[in-house]
Parts: sequence; C-alpha cells; structure tokens
Amino acid sequence: MKRVALVTGGSRGIGATVARKLAADGISVIVTHHASEEAALAIVEQCTSSGYEARTIQLDVRSRESLEAGKRTLEAEGWVPNIIVHCAGIAHYGLLEDTEERTWDDLMQVHLKAAFYLTQLYGPAMTWGRWGRIVNLSSIWGKTGAAGEAAYATAKGGLEAFTKSMAKELATGGVTVNAVAPGAIDTDMLATFDEHERQQLCEQIPLGRLGRAEEVAELIRFLVSDEAEYITGQVIGLNGGWQM
Ligand code: NAP
Repeated sequence: MKRVALVTGGSRGIGATVARKLAADGISVIVTHHASEEAALAIVEQCTSSGYEARTIQLDVRSRESLEAGKRTLEAEGWVPNIIVHCAGIAHYGLLEDTEERTWDDLMQVHLKAAFYLTQLYGPAMTWGRWGRIVNLSSIWGKTGAAGEAAYATAKGGLEAFTKSMAKELATGGVTVNAVAPGAIDTDMLATFDEHERQQLCEQIPLGRLGRAEEVAELIRFLVSDEAEYITGQVIGLNGGWQM
C-alpha cells in the first residue's frame, strides 16, 4: 500500500526533519507550511532532487475551513494521507495573569483542536484502508505542567488524553495513534533563549545538552513504520533524562 504522510509544521524544525526522513524511506510527503512557504519549498526541493516524492501545501491548522480546503486540493491531485504527523506548534512564555484570551485560544487551536480536526478529517479513510499512523507532538510540559507556560502545557496535556482516546477508537481499523513528548529541542522554538538561558537549561538536563530535531524525527520514523504496529496509545518521552 502506498504510504503518504501529511506533516504539519513541515516547513521548519522537527517537522522539516521528519519530512526529509520519511521521504528518504520512500513515503510520499506533504510538507505543510503556514507562513514559511520558501522554507517548505526548500524541503520539498531537497526531497525531490534526491528522487523522492514530496509537495507543499499551505494550511492554517487553527482553521477547519483551511484544513478542509487543503484536503480537497490534495484529494483532487491524488494525495491521500495515511500517516499524519502533527508537528505544527507555537510557544508562549508568560504568567497566566498576563496571558490574553486570544493567546490562550491560539495555543489550544494549534496544538489540540488541530489534532481533532486532522483526525476527524483523515482518520476515517485510514480505517477504511485498514492501515494508518498518527503521531502528535506533545511536550514534557504536557505531563508535568509548567509555570509561565500554562496554556502550552494545558494544550499538550489535552493532546495526550486525545491521543490515548483515539488510539482506543481507531485500533480496530488498524490505525495506531501515539504522541512524542520532547524535552528541550534545539529549534526555532527556543530562539528566544539567550546563551545564558540555554546553558542554564542544559545544566538541568542529565545528559547535559539540548535534543536534536534529528533525534525526535528518528523516533517518529519508527512509530510510523510497520515494525511499530503494536505500539499505540503511548506518550513517549525524549528528553535527555529531564523529568521536571
Ligand atoms: P518550530 O521550529 O517553531 O516550527 C513550528 C512549525 O509550526 C512551523 O513549521 C510553523 O509553520 C508551524 N505552524 C505554526 N503555527 C501554525 C499554524 N497556525 N498553522 C500551520 N502551521 C503552523 O517548532 P518545533 O520546535 O519544530 O516544534 C514542533 C512540535 O514539537 C511543536 O508541537 C512543539 O510544541 C513540539 N515541541 C517542541 C519542543 C522544542 O523544544 N523545540 C519541545 C517539546 C515539544 P510556518 O513557519 O510555515 O508558519
């Protein structure tokens, strides 16, 4: 069966690395972007120039209309995903008392509601095909909570419960649903941290360094493979031993 992966947040960071890795495994890859079209096109160019099949599509994962329109475009052009890797994400640092409602809603939509939309839109076709893989990007904060990142942690905690629920709901259709919960990974998401803050962060991590997008992508590559067919409903940490 042809494998087609929709990678949200495929334009940058973890998603971009996942897209390249899955393409190299012979999976046709849809690299989604929101603002970073050039970056997404560059990822696709890297894949296609190596002989792999890849394309971009612009999606705002906060919007059902955008996701539905994207699905129609993909279907019309023969792209029917049976792998979803939901990497799109935004961060917000600030105390709850300073968090605007709009910010709270944005975080819930990008991380949590988007997973609902994506699973509702693409899950049924996966179960009809009796094969599918969904991997949602959570975070260490989804389990532990985080001062100064309450909205982010809450969205990730919800995403973990959603992942476990979908694993149960879709299991009979041959679809596995898992979450990966990274600690601190060296991507644009940490770009606001200065050198001193990065050093302080590394000192808290038993392995003494930030994680690499490559390491997260390798775990995801395994989770979407046939070899991982008995793994579902799991939240798998990848954090250098950092257990806050
Ligand atoms: P990143 O480098 O900041 O990239 C974020 C991606 O999300 C970009 O591709 C961006 O697309 C996309 N995105 C943001 N808002 C979007 C929207 N409304 N619609 C569609 N796409 C949108 O982030 P990352 O570090 O790779 O993080 C990937 C995932 O891992 C996120 O869920 C994050 O919460 C999680 N995570 C990251 C870390 C970390 O330390 N980096 C730790 C734990 C968990 P455009 O650029 O095209 O707008």
